[in-house]
Amino acid sequence: MAYIISDECLSCGACEGECPVGAISEGDGKYVIDADACVECGACAGVCPVGAPSAE
Ligand code: SF4
Ligand code: SF4
Repeated sequence: MAYIISDECLSCGACEGECPVGAISEGDGKYVIDADACVECGACAGVCPVGAPSAE
């Protein structure tokens, strides 16, 4: 199960560069995770200032 970014996302972009597989990109109003690429490492959740990414 991939991580997912909630609507709490501020689109700060901090998580994008932390993802080891490049699964995070800027979406419409928030950042989004490619569920097929995510390896569930949790790095995005660790850097997010508002805790938007979480395991589904
Ligand atoms: Fe990328 Fe890891 Fe976050 Fe998945 S959990 S989107 S692999 S940083
Ligand atoms: Fe959104 Fe958090 Fe990623 Fe910033 S670090 S773009 S607030 S999910």
